[in-house]
Amino acid sequence: MKKVLSVILAVAMLGVTAMMFSACGGSASSGASSNASSESKDSSTTGAKELHMATNAAFEPYEYVEGGQVVGIDAEIAKAICDKLGYKLVIDDMDFDAIITAVTSGKADFGMAGMTVTEERKQSVDFTDPYTNAVQVIIVNEKNSPVASADDLEGKTVGVQLGTTGDIYVSDVKDVKVERFNKGADAVLALTQGKVDAVVIDKEPAKAFSKQNPGTKILDDPFENEDYAICLKKGSELTEKFNTALKDLKADGTVDDIIKKYINDK
Ligand code: GLN
Repeated sequence: MKKVLSVILAVAMLGVTAMMFSACGGSASSGASSNASSESKDSSTTGAKELHMATNAAFEPYEYVEGGQVVGIDAEIAKAICDKLGYKLVIDDMDFDAIITAVTSGKADFGMAGMTVTEERKQSVDFTDPYTNAVQVIIVNEKNSPVASADDLEGKTVGVQLGTTGDIYVSDVKDVKVERFNKGADAVLALTQGKVDAVVIDKEPAKAFSKQNPGTKILDDPFENEDYAICLKKGSELTEKFNTALKDLKADGTVDDIIKKYINDK
């Protein structure tokens, strides 16, 4: 765990730099806005204040780029919350491990990226109530995989997405060699090339990645259960407002409808 933390810290600077140069920002609201600028401010067109959401739009079905826009479950829930609270949503795309820094530094107003609530993260940011739950799974090659269950990860080379809970869990496995990638898609590519024995990642993105890479499959036995929530700067006044909006959107079925639109078996 300590090792992972130091890696996360070591790449934090790189992450911020990557964020500044991130080229494929998109907006879930009308009028593309892809900058990574600061605090909420008046939008000249609508008069509504902007809220910047930090995300990593390479995590289908939660956030991904389609037709130049960031779409997905998180983008839609965030838009619904912002609509309810009278804000204009602007989505800033960056590496996953740059999101918390963007939120703590005030570059983004909140982070939403299929992000799991963890005790460690709670030390740097506040989380809203969970809006859904998820599970970590193992992706392997269909043929001749040396990994048939979580127990088999011991001593193997395992691909993960840098700074994710998958990274944290796998790093705790005995004698494991962890290969860290900025994108889950790159970890799965490494699997198909035989460079790693397995990939540990969240189930829904795993389904998308496995589909895009024939010859791979997801093992039946799920790895870890997690809650996804929105992270905000510690002490932010927005957290309570977000929780109220989220509660209403859960109660009126909006959150469920959005999730079901993207996930058939949920
Ligand atoms: N749920 C995982 C985490 O929070 C992965 C999130 C992601 O890669 N977008 O670490």
